[in-house]
Amino acid sequence: MCPAPTGTVTTDPVALAAELIRIDTTNFGGGRSNGERAAADYVEAFLGRLGVECTRYEVADGRTNLIARVLGQDPELPALMLNAHLDVVPADPQEWSVDPFAGLVRDGFLWGRGAVDMKGMVGMILAAVASLLSSGQRPRRDLVLAFLADEEDNSHVGARWMVSEHPEAFEGVAETIGEVGGFSVDIEGRPVFLVQTGEKGILWLRLRAHGRGSHGSQINRDESALLDLAQAVLRIGHEPWEVSLTETTSAMLSGLAGLLGLPEDSDPDTLARATGACSTFVTPGLRTVANPTLFHAGIKENTVPSTAEALVDVRFLPGQRDEVLSRIKELAGPGIEVEIADEVEAVETSFDTALVETMRASVERALPGATLLPYLVPAGTDNPMFARLGIRGFGFSPLLLPPGFDFPAMFHGVDERVPVDALRFGAGVLHDLVLHH
Ligand SMILES: [Zn+2]
Repeated sequence: MCPAPTGTVTTDPVALAAELIRIDTTNFGGGRSNGERAAADYVEAFLGRLGVECTRYEVADGRTNLIARVLGQDPELPALMLNAHLDVVPADPQEWSVDPFAGLVRDGFLWGRGAVDMKGMVGMILAAVASLLSSGQRPRRDLVLAFLADEEDNSHVGARWMVSEHPEAFEGVAETIGEVGGFSVDIEGRPVFLVQTGEKGILWLRLRAHGRGSHGSQINRDESALLDLAQAVLRIGHEPWEVSLTETTSAMLSGLAGLLGLPEDSDPDTLARATGACSTFVTPGLRTVANPTLFHAGIKENTVPSTAEALVDVRFLPGQRDEVLSRIKELAGPGIEVEIADEVEAVETSFDTALVETMRASVERALPGATLLPYLVPAGTDNPMFARLGIRGFGFSPLLLPPGFDFPAMFHGVDERVPVDALRFGAGVLHDLVLHH
């Protein structure tokens, strides 16, 4: 069912990503998934043709994680890992202009679920390794390739499980490159590549209110679990979280101010807006975000429930978990239980590293005059899992995007697509990077 690569090994990331889009690896969440195995089979077959062996890891049937190693020129150096998840979120074909699983190339774009999140990157990694090895080159340091399951749910059968049960798969890895960063934004006509060096943490908080259950005809204003809960949720939802800068966002804003010719102490939101459509990625990285996402209460129209629950999705900045949690408890108020349903730690690493210097040089060779700035991604990736092993994570899936392209809208969006030139640019940059870093 899965089309194994045939004939000469392609070095075209567009062809590779298109084939991967055609393998439907939808992750529906809650443990329901089409599984990643067929995509892993494809990747393993492709790498096998290049003489690269893979090791498979599965804790649940069909939920395949694949790890490969390419030996570098200098075994003394710590390894670099390129990582990508093989699963995608669901796509409703009714809403799309094209079949989301056809892997179509049209109008200069590769269309389909996973084009940017993140089979495009899988295609770029495979293309970079194929062009490297087929031209007789080797990466400077050992290269670990990690193709993971379940990132689009909670990584319980993917990176989270791999890191806790198979840390040996990542032995010797000091740094990793994956999603969500490395894309270009247009600042005053100049491409600026945002490298992800930080990631907000996640707290899923279950709020529970208790009151007096009664018949719906009774007066029950002061002991209503639903009313108490609604008020708590309103207070949390309306909290005006202040801008709070980290090392990453300070450096980003200072870089943006410089490029825009504005003072360093300009309003952070104004500077963030200069990233255009990508400000929907950049702005939430400047402050805490807390969104109510679920309500559970009641069983019948004429019955006042005695308990009510809500779920609040809290995204906090590195170093601020405890203060944000206590502020939320304060906002919830004394009668409301606040329980942690799930959490992921925030991570941040330095932009001032040799790896970023290599990224800069590789981008510069492909596109003279390009600039790199750090940014903090407001959503989650597998980087916090790798950080548990001391691996520093960077979002760097290099894409040179046309000005005005609404890149954030592509993530989990309808008509997800990526310019084919952007994928070819990215594969070239990754090839150059693994050769020199
Ligand atoms: Zn992703």
